[in-house]
Amino acid sequence: MSVETDRDLNAELASPKSGFQGFPVDAICTGCQHVHVKQVRPEDVGQSIEIDPVTLDTDALTSFKHICYRCGSATWWNPTAVLSGLIETQRSAEE
Ligand SMILES: [Zn+2]
Repeated sequence: MSVETDRDLNAELASPKSGFQGFPVDAICTGCQHVHVKQVRPEDVGQSIEIDPVTLDTDALTSFKHICYRCGSATWWNPTAVLSGLIETQRSAEE
């Protein structure tokens, strides 16, 4: 699944709706099919906390629970892409 080009992923990541902890993934709400950048911790998606998120294969990630502002509740989200470009941007901003 490709990332839609009309979305501003950086703006989505900066939004409180993406969450505050972890690394950015693109994800889809299983309730309403809304797509949004979400921040997840490795343990939220069935991975070791030691792992480098840029090395993760999207297929290896499990669904995770996160708030959906469209559904108005916490729902299950399926990761569709690890946003390694945004991860690299975050890292260079921290250096
Ligand atoms: Zn939803």
